[in-house]
Amino acid sequence: MACGPLCANPCVQCCMNASAPPPPPSLPSPAPGATHSLVSVEVNRSTVEWLLAEFPATDLSNPKPTGRPDVLKVELYQSRDELEQLRDRFPREFGAAAVVAPEGATQRLIDAERARLAERRRVDRETPRAERKAVFFEDFRDYDEIMLYLDLLLAEPAIEVRKVVSGQTREGRDIHTWYFTGSGGLVKPTVYLQGSAHANEWMGTMGCVYALTELIEGYAAGDQEIVQLMDALVFVATPVLNVDGYLHTWTATGRNWRKNRRDNGDGSFGVDLNRNNGPERTWCTAGSSTNPSSNTYCGPSVLSEPEDRSMGELLATIRETQPLITAVDFHTCGSLLLWPWQYSYEQLPLPERTDFEVLGLAQEVAINAVNGGEWQSIQGVDLYPHSGGFIDFVWEEHGVLGYTYEGSSILGGCHVQPPEAILPSSAEQYAGVLEAARWAMRDIPPEK
Ligand SMILES: [Zn+2]
Repeated sequence: MACGPLCANPCVQCCMNASAPPPPPSLPSPAPGATHSLVSVEVNRSTVEWLLAEFPATDLSNPKPTGRPDVLKVELYQSRDELEQLRDRFPREFGAAAVVAPEGATQRLIDAERARLAERRRVDRETPRAERKAVFFEDFRDYDEIMLYLDLLLAEPAIEVRKVVSGQTREGRDIHTWYFTGSGGLVKPTVYLQGSAHANEWMGTMGCVYALTELIEGYAAGDQEIVQLMDALVFVATPVLNVDGYLHTWTATGRNWRKNRRDNGDGSFGVDLNRNNGPERTWCTAGSSTNPSSNTYCGPSVLSEPEDRSMGELLATIRETQPLITAVDFHTCGSLLLWPWQYSYEQLPLPERTDFEVLGLAQEVAINAVNGGEWQSIQGVDLYPHSGGFIDFVWEEHGVLGYTYEGSSILGGCHVQPPEAILPSSAEQYAGVLEAARWAMRDIPPEK
């Protein structure tokens, strides 16, 4: 029996039966006084589907392979009530799940982060250029700080730039996208970079902004390889796609908001922008919920959300004039590079699958060389099946070798990470971007 994304418990039971009986699991109690807790658990992949369907507010993050087939280690960010309900149902319905370690009350981390951020140094127009990068990457940044920083960064006179409004958000805000290259015009083979599809994954946003910083500053400084890449290619970047959601994560109660801010009309808000993409034939078929309250709500129809529509239109516009070759969608976290298919265990035909594997491995090696990390390049479905995501969409609709980066958790935490992790984590992601850019240069004939 196939297990669909919203399968009822008997279906889950049938999936569970495929695995050996587990030791009796248990869940920790919520910390006293905590409104939310982060718990780390091991679950069957099929259990993830059940969990997201039964506990729509669950925020599941930091998935890691365990070395055992079909078992993932994940972190669940649960309200006190939900954790109590999970405690009741865990032994009965979770099959192979087992608690690894309770990690205490994440709310305390959020409170500490908020207090720290209130004191942060900011980049402004008076910040000396030589200090801008160091100040910016000291800590996480709100939307206005990111936009100002990017405007200042992309004012670099040595490069060619075009800033466009690539769409409007659900709440009517502009989505800003930058085209940039070294010299020779903006019609050349192109690499697309995107951040903040998931609003609460701040480290992914920082990784995207860092990649732009290194490319542009490397070009201005005359770094030989960067000059070669930047002159040969165009980079198109939308560092904050989910503007409404990102702004919401900076409000007093919104830090862990993931989706956009669609008013679903039933008291709930938001569509998961990494579940709302096409292709239409797979939309909402796996790892997505039709429950508007769910963190993985796929939306009322494919590409119903203006943020995702605008991304698709942007890519189509680029392809009218130039080849769009590789793309990166920055997320957090898991130390993973994901490539299609994600909606299904079906494999891409050769030689396309080989391309994804070879470039995936090149990125993995480059990334792990930075900090000795343990990133893995895997077919997206091997994390867990989900449809409507970036990588399946850009491949099927646009023929782009797209990767989702699930960034690392170098100093612990996932959505809430210490600021000291920003530079080492971002440097990893930049190493991957460079590989994606090198790949995009492969088909360009050498200069005569
Ligand atoms: Zn994400």
